[in-house]
Amino acid sequence: DLLQPTATSDETDKLEEGLRPQRFADYIGQKDLKTVLEIAIKAAKGRGETMDHLLLYGPPGLGKTTMALILAAEMGTTCKITAAPSLERPRDIVGLLVSLKPGEILFIDEIHRLTRMAEELLYPAMEDFRVEIAIGKGQSARTRSLPLSPFTLVGATTRVGSLTSPLRDRFGLIHRLHFYEPEELTEIVLRSADLLKTPIDREGAEEIAGRSRGTPRIANRLLKRVRDYTQVKNLGKIDRKIADEALEVFNVDPRGLDWTDRKVLSVMIDNFKGGPVGIETIASATGEDVQTIEEVYEPYLMQIGFMLRTPRGRMVTPAAWQHMGYK
Ligand code: ADP
Repeated sequence: DLLQPTATSDETDKLEEGLRPQRFADYIGQKDLKTVLEIAIKAAKGRGETMDHLLLYGPPGLGKTTMALILAAEMGTTCKITAAPSLERPRDIVGLLVSLKPGEILFIDEIHRLTRMAEELLYPAMEDFRVEIAIGKGQSARTRSLPLSPFTLVGATTRVGSLTSPLRDRFGLIHRLHFYEPEELTEIVLRSADLLKTPIDREGAEEIAGRSRGTPRIANRLLKRVRDYTQVKNLGKIDRKIADEALEVFNVDPRGLDWTDRKVLSVMIDNFKGGPVGIETIASATGEDVQTIEEVYEPYLMQIGFMLRTPRGRMVTPAAWQHMGYK
């Protein structure tokens, strides 16, 4: 699915790696985050210490992994990337921790999914750079404390509310990433087009940006689809009209809503007169799970003012009725 921000394939992975900004200066938008981190980096470097552990949260595709890699580059170190589901066994996380080089950055994606055991191994690692391991079995079992190299943990999550508080409390910096403004996404599209050597004018970039749901990963994907279309039809430079045509072919609506977004809205309008509707009902009507609706679809629909959360359930707004072609 073109719009699934969580979908991965070799092709998109390679595309993403090539387009990832490498330094602070190329990371567009998220001004507050950059300001905070620039200070944290300078201070840490000045003291010759590692930076405080950092928790980044927000919807997928907004630049959390990218920021971890940039931090490593700016600190002059490397970054090990992993995700909570691959740290299930204690030896996975212990192995990873002891392999860290001094000052290295450890990025753990989906950190809210760590097992209890993994979390408990992480606490002393984060606090005192040591890890407790069990030696021997049964009666003679003892624990030993192994020293680790100082490191910075960068945790990423789409659901900060699902983190346990002992884990959350061990991050010195907690920051939320916001959806990008259309102008910022336009800059991202122009930058990516340049890297892909794809001719595009500003209006063409704006058109793609406007349909990218505030998300750089989606902007890059849509750019790639428009590039294919333009190449196959031999149209030359991408302008607004070409971008518009191409995105229509790929079923991306003018606000960037995909089939599921539209289904969410139409279920609420047609079956529930606009709400309030419970999240479970919306999920089952669209065939998505509750978590995906909450983390991927709903945040953007709320951001553009198409959906509201009320104590009695979700409601669609007049703007959404209008967008869906109702009065
Ligand atoms: P997340 O980890 O939040 O899911 P990523 O860091 O993997 O998101 O970002 C997805 C893609 O979007 C990256 O490959 C990068 O090309 C692009 N991207 C993300 N943030 C920015 C940004 N601030 N400026 C330019 N491109 C960005």
